[in-house]
Amino acid sequence: MAKKKENQSKAVKWDYSPAPESSSHINMKDQYELFIGGKWVKPSSGKYFDTINPANKRKLAKIAYANEKDIDKAVKAARKAYKTVWSKTAPAERAKYIYRIARLMQERAREFAVIESLDSGKVIRESRDVDVPLACNHFFYYAGWADKLEYAFPNRKVESLGVAGQITPWNFPLLMAAWKIAPALATGNCVVLKPAETTPLTALKLAEIIEESGLPPGVVNIVTGYGDTGAAIVNHDDVDKIAFTGSTGVGKIIQKAIASTDKKATLELGGKSANIILEDAPIDQAVEGIVNGIFFNQGHVCCAGSRLFVQESVAEEVIEKLKHRISSLIVGDPMDKNTDIGAINSKEQLDIINRYIKIGLDEGATMYQPDCSLPKSGYYCRPTLFMNVAQSSTIVQEEIFGPVLTIQTFRTVDEAIEKANNTPYGLAAGIWTDKGSRIFNLANKLNAGVIWANTYNKFDPTSPFGGYKESGFGREGGLQGLSAYVKLK
Ligand code: NAP
Ligand code: MG
Repeated sequence: MAKKKENQSKAVKWDYSPAPESSSHINMKDQYELFIGGKWVKPSSGKYFDTINPANKRKLAKIAYANEKDIDKAVKAARKAYKTVWSKTAPAERAKYIYRIARLMQERAREFAVIESLDSGKVIRESRDVDVPLACNHFFYYAGWADKLEYAFPNRKVESLGVAGQITPWNFPLLMAAWKIAPALATGNCVVLKPAETTPLTALKLAEIIEESGLPPGVVNIVTGYGDTGAAIVNHDDVDKIAFTGSTGVGKIIQKAIASTDKKATLELGGKSANIILEDAPIDQAVEGIVNGIFFNQGHVCCAGSRLFVQESVAEEVIEKLKHRISSLIVGDPMDKNTDIGAINSKEQLDIINRYIKIGLDEGATMYQPDCSLPKSGYYCRPTLFMNVAQSSTIVQEEIFGPVLTIQTFRTVDEAIEKANNTPYGLAAGIWTDKGSRIFNLANKLNAGVIWANTYNKFDPTSPFGGYKESGFGREGGLQGLSAYVKLK
C-alpha cells in the first residue's frame, strides 16, 4: 500500500511499492573480447578491466583492453572491408543491412534497455522509452537515406570517406553509438568505434546484433578500453575521419592531434545550456520542463538545461514550485520503474558533482536539496538547486554534468539573452513563453545549436544536433548528419 508522507517543502510524497524491472531475460557474458574483422578476438595485451553497476558497485563483466596494436588490427580490418566489399556494395543493399540492424535491435529492445540501465545507472524508464527506441530510429532513418544520397546533395557527386574512428561518452552509450554508426554506414564508410570505459556493454551487444545481421566482417569494429585506446584511434594514420562525443577538454586534445593531418572531424562537446522562463510562460508546464531539462538522466546530458533564468516578476512562484516538485522526485534504484533519478555513472563523476556543490556553498550561494533518502550503496546525488548565484560563480560558468541547477533572475529579455550567451559553451537553450514572436526573437539571438520552445530535451533522428563555440562543431542527425561522412565533388 502506498503511504503518504510530508517532507520539508510540504510536498506530498507517496511511497510506492517496489516495481523492479526483471533482468532474468538478458544475455550477458562474464567476459567480452574485441569485435574486430567480424570476430571476437582477445586483446594483444591480455588485459581486461571491470565494468560495474554504479547503482550497487557490483561487477557486471570483464572487458578487453585494446592497445595500439589492437587498434591497428581494427583499422586494417575496416580498411580491408572498405576496399574489398563495402565501397562496392550497392547503396540499396547497404540500406538493407542498416534496416536489419534496426529491426534486430527492436526485437531485443528490452534486453538493451536493461543492460543500459545496469551498466550506466540511468533509470529503466528512460533507457526503455528514450535511449533504445531513439537508437533504433536512427538506424531506420539513415537506412532510408543510403540510396538517396543524390537527393540529399543535389547536383553533387557524393563519395564516402573510408574509415571512420568513432569515440563515445558514457551518458548515452547505445544512442551515441547509433548516432555515429548509422550515418557512417549509410554513406558507405567503415567504422572503428570505442565506447566509454564505464559503459561498454550496449555497444558490445550492438556488435552481437551486427554479427547476426550478416554485415560483412570488418565494416564495423568495436574496440573497448580507456582514453589511450581512443587516442590510438585518433592518431592512427589510416583513419579518415574522427567523430567524437565527450568533454571539451578531450575534444581540444583531439583537435590538436589531428591539426596537421587531413582527417575530417566532428566534435560534440560539453554544454552549460540556459532555460529561460518569461513572465507570460505557462508556469506549471515550464516547471515540469525545467525538471526534465536538468534531472533527466541524472543531469548527465550534454545539453542539460543547467542554468535557469526566470523573469523577476514570476521568480518567487517558479522557485517555490520547483522546490515543491523536486521534493517529490524519487532518487534510487535505476531498475525500479518508479525511480526518477537513478545512479551517478561513476565514483569519479559523483566526486566531481560533490566538489561543485561544495564550491557553490563556499562561494556563498543558497542551496536547496529535498530530504529524500538515498540507497546505502552505489553512487547517488539528490536533486540540487542553487539560488543567489552570480554570473561569475563557478557553478554558473562550468559544466557540472549532474543534477544541479543554478537559478538567476532577469528583468528584460535583452538581459536574459546577454546572460544566457555569456558562457564558453553554445549547445542548447530552452524558451518558455506564451508568445511566438518572443520565441523567434530569443531563438535568433541565443548562441546555441539547438533551441527548444516550451519543451526541453526532445530528440529526433531527423533533426540535426550540435553546438557552437566550445560545444564543438559539426552536426549529428538529420540530413546534416550525412555531410560529416561524405566528400562532395
Ligand atoms: P570524455 O572523458 O571526454 O570521454 C569521451 C570518450 O573519449 C570516452 O570514450 C573516453 O574514454 C575517450 N577518451 C578519453 N581521453 C581520450 C583521448 N585523449 N583521446 C581520445 N579519446 C579519449 O567525456 P565523458 O566524461 O565520457 O562524457 C561527458 C562529456 O561528454 C560531457 O562534457 C558532455 O557534455 C559531453 N557530451 C557531449 C555531447 C554532445 O553531443 N555535444 C553528448 C554527450 C556527452 P574513457 O571512457 O575510457 O575515458
Ligand atoms: Mg558500468
